Amino acid sequence: MEIPQRVYIFDTTLRDGEQSPGVALTASGKLAIAEQLARLDVDAIKEGLPKSSAGDFAAVNSIAGQIVGPVVAVLARCQPTDLEVATRALEPALKLPIHVFIATSSVHMQIKLKMSLSQVLDRIGDTVTRRAYVEDVGFSVEHATRSHGDFLLRAALTAVECGASIINLPDAAGYAISGECGRLLEGVRASLRDRPATRISVHCHNDLGLAVANTLVGIGAGAGQVEVVINGIGERVGNVAWEEVVIALSARHDQCAVSHRIRPEEIDRTSQLVSQFTGMLGRPNKAIGDRNAVRQQSGIHQDGVLKDRCTYEIVTPEAIDVGKTALVLGKHSGRHALRKRLANLGIVASTEELDRIQTRMKSLAKGKFEVNDAGLTAIWQDQVQGIKALDAELTGWEVSTDAPRCPSVRVTLGHQGTVRDAGGTGNGAVDTLFEALVRAFEMKDIELRYYCLVPESPGEDGMAAVGAQVFGQGLSAGYASDPDVLKASALAIKEVLDGLAGPRLASGAAMCG
Ligand code: MN
Repeated sequence: MEIPQRVYIFDTTLRDGEQSPGVALTASGKLAIAEQLARLDVDAIKEGLPKSSAGDFAAVNSIAGQIVGPVVAVLARCQPTDLEVATRALEPALKLPIHVFIATSSVHMQIKLKMSLSQVLDRIGDTVTRRAYVEDVGFSVEHATRSHGDFLLRAALTAVECGASIINLPDAAGYAISGECGRLLEGVRASLRDRPATRISVHCHNDLGLAVANTLVGIGAGAGQVEVVINGIGERVGNVAWEEVVIALSARHDQCAVSHRIRPEEIDRTSQLVSQFTGMLGRPNKAIGDRNAVRQQSGIHQDGVLKDRCTYEIVTPEAIDVGKTALVLGKHSGRHALRKRLANLGIVASTEELDRIQTRMKSLAKGKFEVNDAGLTAIWQDQVQGIKALDAELTGWEVSTDAPRCPSVRVTLGHQGTVRDAGGTGNGAVDTLFEALVRAFEMKDIELRYYCLVPESPGEDGMAAVGAQVFGQGLSAGYASDPDVLKASALAIKEVLDGLAGPRLASGAAMCG
C-alpha cells in the first residue's frame, strides 16, 4: 500500500467532543456545529451512539437529513441492536456509513466485556458481515494501542475480510508515545498489504500531551484518515485538536506531503462556535485558534516580524482568519449585518427566520449597546429552534470587594414583570456572584463546574470572554463577553442558570427548587 497523498478529515467533535466533562450539546447546537463543519469541508462527521438515548437518536436523524457535503457517520457497538438502531437513525442520509467498535486489549476483554479472544473475533465477524443494509462499515479496534500486537492484527484482518473498508486505531486512553504509533501503523499496513483499498485511520487522545505528534506520526506511517475534534475538547484532557493537525500539515508540508480539502479560513469561526455552545474557552496560549496564537510580545520577535513576518510567524493570522473585524449588532443594525453575523456563527436563516430574530434582537437591544454572539445564538435557539431559555434579565448587579473583608454581591433579576434580588458574601467575587444568582433563580444543589476567563480583544477597551458550565439538575453552558470581567462573569453565569431554568419551567416544574 502506498503512503496516501490524501488525508480524510473525520470530525468527531459531536461524539468525542461532547464527552468533555460538563458538556451536553443541545440538538440545535449540534446541528449548528455540523453545518459549520460542512462549511469547513470536513470529509465526515461522526455523530454519537443513536442507541444510547432518544436524544442522541433524534440528533443523528436530524443531522443526517439536513447536512449536505460531509458524510454523516454514526457509532455502534458490535451488537445487532446497536446496528439496527444506528441504521434507522441514518435513514434520511444519502449514505449509510456506520462505525462499529469493540475493545481488543486484554484488560478490556477480561474486565469490561468478559469475553474470550475467539468470542471477540466472532463478534467482529458477525457484526461487520451484517453490513448488508449499510453501505460502508468502519471498524474501530478500541484500545488499539493497549492491545497485543498479534491479536490486534487478527481483529483488523477479520473486520476487513468481512467487509470493513476503514480500520480505525484509537489510542483511547492517550497512552501511546509516537514511536509506538508509527510501528503500530506500519504493522497494520503490512498485514493489509493485499487490501490496498482499506483506509487506516488514527484517533488520538491527549492524556500525555502527545495527540498531535502521534497523529502526525500516524499520517507519516500511512494513515489515510485522522479523527479529530475542534478545540481538542473531549473526555479527560481531550482529543487531538483538529485545527492543530490541519495547520501543522499546511505549515510543514515539506515534512507531511499530504493533501486535504479543509478551508483553513473557517477554522477560527468554527473554534468560536464550539466554544460558545460548550462554554469551554481555550487557554490563550493553545496552539492555533486561540488568542495568542498569532501574537508576538518579545522585542526581539517584534523587531523580526516588522522586518519580515516570516522570521517568527509560521502561521499567519490571515491563514486562520483570526483578528477579523466583528460586526457589532445593536438596535440600529440592519438585516444585512444580522445575516452576516449569523453566518459567522454558522447559522443560515431563512427570510422569515431573520424577521423573527431581528424583531426579538431589537427588543432586547433597547437597553443595551450591543447583542453579543452568545445573546444572538440564544435568540436564534429561542426563536427558530424552539428551545426556551427562561429569558430572565440581569437588571442590576453590585459587587463590593473592600479588602480584607470578603466580597459581597447583590444581583437583581427581571422576568415577565417580576423582580427578584438576592445577595451574599463569599470567598471571591465570582464565587459570590454565582451563589447570589443561584439564590435569585431560586435553585439549589447547583455546582459551578467550569469557569474560564480569557481576553477576547486587546487594549484598554478590550473585551473579556467568560465561559461557564454548571452541573446539577442537568447540564448547561453559558458564554458572555464584556469589557468588565465581573459583568461578563455575571452574564455568563446568568445565562447558564437561565438555560437550566427554562426547560424546567416548560416541563411544568416550579421555578424554585
Ligand atoms: Mn475517543
